[in-house]
Amino acid sequence: MKVLVATHESQGAHPDDYCATLEGELVTTLGSECCSPDMCGCGRGFPGLASSMATTTAMVADLPHMNPDTLAGAVRDSLERGGWLGYLDPAEQDELVADHLIEIREVCSAFPIGTIVCRSGSRVFPRPRAA
Ligand SMILES: [Zn+2]
Repeated sequence: MKVLVATHESQGAHPDDYCATLEGELVTTLGSECCSPDMCGCGRGFPGLASSMATTTAMVADLPHMNPDTLAGAVRDSLERGGWLGYLDPAEQDELVADHLIEIREVCSAFPIGTIVCRSGSRVFPRPRAA
C-alpha cells in the first residue's frame, strides 16, 4: 500500500527545512496549525505518527505490510496519544481518522513511489530533485 513516510532525503535543500521525525516513519498531511504557521513552520510539516514530531519532507512509499486498516490504526493511535480524540464522540473520532486516510490516499495517488513531497497549508506538492 502506498503511504507517506518521513525522509531525510533532500533535507536542507530548502533553507526552512526541518526534520524531527524518525527516518521512514509514517506521516500524515493533516496537522493543526497555530496562528503564525509561516513563521513557526507548522504549516509546512508532515506530522509523524510514531514520534508526534514533524518533517518538511515526506516520501511516497510502497509498504506491502500496510493496508487501510493498519494505516487507520496507526493514525488513530497517534491521534489518541496526542490527545486529539479526547473530546470527540466515537463518530467524530472515526471521521477524523477517515479525513487523514483520505488526505494520505489523495497525495499517494497523485505521485509515483519515491516522490519527495512538501506541504504548504493544505497544498502538497513534489519537491524538485536535485541535479
Ligand atoms: Zn505554528
